[in-house]
Amino acid sequence: MPTYNRADLAFEHGQGAVLWTVDGRRFLDFGAGIATTSIGHAHPHLVATIAEQAAKVMHVSNLYRVPQAERLAQRLVDSSFADSVFFCNSGAEANEGMIKAVRKYNSETGHPERYRMICFEGAFHGRTLATLSATGNEKYLAGFGPPVDGFDHVPFGNMNALRDAIGPGTGGIMIEPIQGEGGVRPAELQFLRDLRATCDEFGLLLALDEVQTGMGRTGKLWAHQWAGIEPDVMSAAKGIGGGFPLGAVLAKEKVAQYLKPGTHGTTYGGGPLACAAGNAVLDVILAEGFLDHVDQIARKLWDGLEDLARRHPTVIENIRGAGLLLGMKLRPEISNTDAQAAGVMEGLLTVAAGQNVLRLAPPLIIGDAEVEEALALLDRVMLRLTPSVASLAVASLAAK
Ligand SMILES: *Cc1c(COP(=O)(O)O)cnc(C)c1O
Repeated sequence: MPTYNRADLAFEHGQGAVLWTVDGRRFLDFGAGIATTSIGHAHPHLVATIAEQAAKVMHVSNLYRVPQAERLAQRLVDSSFADSVFFCNSGAEANEGMIKAVRKYNSETGHPERYRMICFEGAFHGRTLATLSATGNEKYLAGFGPPVDGFDHVPFGNMNALRDAIGPGTGGIMIEPIQGEGGVRPAELQFLRDLRATCDEFGLLLALDEVQTGMGRTGKLWAHQWAGIEPDVMSAAKGIGGGFPLGAVLAKEKVAQYLKPGTHGTTYGGGPLACAAGNAVLDVILAEGFLDHVDQIARKLWDGLEDLARRHPTVIENIRGAGLLLGMKLRPEISNTDAQAAGVMEGLLTVAAGQNVLRLAPPLIIGDAEVEEALALLDRVMLRLTPSVASLAVASLAAK
């Protein structure tokens, strides 16, 4: 179906942060399949683990125990606020599980009327009917009938609006610590702390969507750790499988206890192959010093981007984000999709995001060389976009 606006590029293989097309062109991949190939392309440990597991057993269903899932769940519990984990196959499915968990908790604790959640303008939670309603973007909802009821939206970061929106039907608050699709917009850490306090004050559950920000993306395993808070329930996906489809709902026991047999499920979710992949990714991300490396290399990239912004003030408005989820907000007269296309011309893959932002979400394994190369390529991208030489840039685009 014509659901995507695809670039005319087809990749044949990759290695680390580099991808090669079928016709042999080389690209530095600072999009990572939308923040998903967290440990880079063709990581030997991930490749070997998937191959070995595929040769043993790929799928058994949730009628049976799955040791790979038990191990992955235990490791996620040991390295998070959570007491238990539900596995699924994507971010939207993780958010559906999270929304259902919040509703079930409220219903089982005597408040079935509290099925509503407060969400934020600019959010992105997925493309299923409920997660679209949580997203609340009119453009995405148009034509798909009545949205699922139970989602109220307030401006991102506005505590007064949030408190005003809490009513007798409110059961939880759902937020991305950094809005990814919405324009790489980080919530203030104090705002996240205030949300936690507000949830405690009103008896609401704090539900974090860490689909894009989790699994080491910000230099801590989970982005909310920067704020020193704990959610009650959280979704993860994207980077968790390193490119293999995998999603997860992590929850405290007070929430998870109500998801008894028969209340929720999936055929594929938590299968041996996906969970073996998840364990292999965790082996890399939890290795001594890895997250410190992400933090350090991210700061280097940030400094370089700040420098670019100073040198190209007619193109870049500001730099935003955290860790290796960074955005360059472009001037209104420069389009982020043109910038993305100019990146392709220079051999650099990026991802456009909302609010006219060019998003950088490289694999977490990048080193100094990749950062330096990306900054040099971005410098050329900015030159292509600089208004005064726009006609020259168009001419050179046409020549290629
Ligand atoms: C990508 C994303 C989703 C949806 O994940 P899918 O795997 O595409 O269903 C949900 N929430 C956030 C924050 C995301 O970035």
